Amino acid sequence: MSSASLWGLVREQVMTIDSRLQRANDLIDKIHETEKQLNDFKYALDAAALYALSVNDYENDRDWTEKRKLARRLYWEALYFEEDDIKEFYNVSSIEELIQCVVGSITKTYYCPCCGIGMKVEVESRSDLERLEHQHYADNPCDDCIALKRHIEHLKQMPYKEYLKTDEWQITRQCFLEKADNKCQLCNTEKYLHVHHRTYENLGEEEDKDCIVLCRGCHAKFHDIAVAESAR
Ligand SMILES: [Zn+2]
Ligand SMILES: [Zn+2]
Ligand SMILES: [Zn+2]
Repeated sequence: MSSASLWGLVREQVMTIDSRLQRANDLIDKIHETEKQLNDFKYALDAAALYALSVNDYENDRDWTEKRKLARRLYWEALYFEEDDIKEFYNVSSIEELIQCVVGSITKTYYCPCCGIGMKVEVESRSDLERLEHQHYADNPCDDCIALKRHIEHLKQMPYKEYLKTDEWQITRQCFLEKADNKCQLCNTEKYLHVHHRTYENLGEEEDKDCIVLCRGCHAKFHDIAVAESAR
């Protein structure tokens, strides 16, 4: 095959890939557009439901059950409406009463980031939900997580230098720096900060007392003293 026709072939391939990419991008745009439309529909539906709560009389038990179901859905799923907006349609004096008498609690399942086990959590209120989402997004392992224990064991057995390169240590290190206000805990300098391990016993699950933030100078002094002491 001549180099010219080889080139032609390559160019043809590139053009095919280009047009496929273009088509994929168009599709992604359409998906986003549809998502937006769906959200708008959902909002319109919820708004209609909220309106329905306000206009109907709900005289018999069945109506009351329906109304309650509606309120429950709006309370837990239509977070763009205030609790007060929903409360308005009931003869209740407080949000607590609304939750207790009308809305009720829900059960959510969270998954342990270490072992993947599902944990069922009873959620009592919207503020409770917000707190839980926050907590669980921040990686909350299950109680007595075996996978986590194994992982920490693995971190402890790593050579110290390797451990310092792990994501786990980088996150812990950042926490210590933030808690110390990004200052050396001996001389308040803000430059060249190190997080020094006072003990290596709890690698992977360091407690507050296990580490100290030191600037380069103080850190060196610290180690000099430690070396001198161990030589004695
Ligand atoms: Zn777990
Ligand atoms: Zn050190
Ligand atoms: Zn210092």
